[in-house]
Amino acid sequence: MKYLMNYFSLPFMRNEISFCFYAEKKSRMGKYHVIHTKPCELLPEKPSRIKMGFFENFEEVEKAGRKQFGEVRFCSFCCDFS
Ligand SMILES: [Zn+2]
Repeated sequence: MKYLMNYFSLPFMRNEISFCFYAEKKSRMGKYHVIHTKPCELLPEKPSRIKMGFFENFEEVEKAGRKQFGEVRFCSFCCDFS
């Protein structure tokens, strides 16, 4: 799975494709909301997530997330860019 996500994130970082992003409805420790991409295995079920839509880069997602939720963090499983 890890390999698969890395494989997908490469063209994504080059802005060739875009992913649909979701935010967890419940904040972690009342502090921040975690953002996932569509194929993530850790993505919560429909009632516990909020669809953010399609974005072409992480910067835009973060901006939109901050506007909507205040503080956001990217899921380290599906949005690992290190
Ligand atoms: Zn995730």
